[in-house]
Amino acid sequence: MLAFLDYDGTLTTHECNEIVLQRFVGDAWRPLEAEAKADRMSHAECFDRQIGLIKAPREEFLGALVAEAEPAPGLPAFLAELEARGGRPVIVSAGLREAIAAVWSREKLPPVELHASELVGAGPQGGPPYRLAFSGVLGDCPRCGPRACKGAALRALRRPGEPVLVFGDGASDLCPAREADLTFARGHLAERCADEGLEWRPLADFTTVWSDVDAWTARR
Ligand SMILES: [Mg+2]
Ligand SMILES: [Zn+2]
Repeated sequence: MLAFLDYDGTLTTHECNEIVLQRFVGDAWRPLEAEAKADRMSHAECFDRQIGLIKAPREEFLGALVAEAEPAPGLPAFLAELEARGGRPVIVSAGLREAIAAVWSREKLPPVELHASELVGAGPQGGPPYRLAFSGVLGDCPRCGPRACKGAALRALRRPGEPVLVFGDGASDLCPAREADLTFARGHLAERCADEGLEWRPLADFTTVWSDVDAWTARR
């Protein structure tokens, strides 16, 4: 079993990117977000342009992302049970790899395969202006844009016959949700899964995921 995991707002209790953007750039990130949610701009272009608004030094920006992150309740037990069942966790995120790795080590969470973005700073000491270099595991898609689709990542990572659980909350999680056996969704993704009639369950936190999975498996 493959657990295909979004990071921000899915493994964390809050949308850390949004909170930190608000702190550093005020409301300037919001019009971009509205364009992406209305499918008028790809989520990848949106996030790249939002990151481009940040003028803070690199350590300050990354440090704020790490400080803001609080793991969702039940996450460590969920990961332990996944391992006990012979499954594997993979995080596929447009978020910043350095920040995610720092949170993972601070929280002493079990090892996970991580595909995330590099923060590229063109200024001194890798500082602003910033842009994102997305993970190479992402692929092309008319909806997400070139080299920005998590659905393509799912196809690349999935082993033949392997059941896939997708966990997400945002617009970028819709493409993998369309290919999942079962999706656990919050926020915007939950609305999109409901609209499209996908097989999905609400993700409050990780404490009830396995009972939902077992109930779903029993009915298949
Ligand atoms: Mg997210
Ligand atoms: Zn896509």
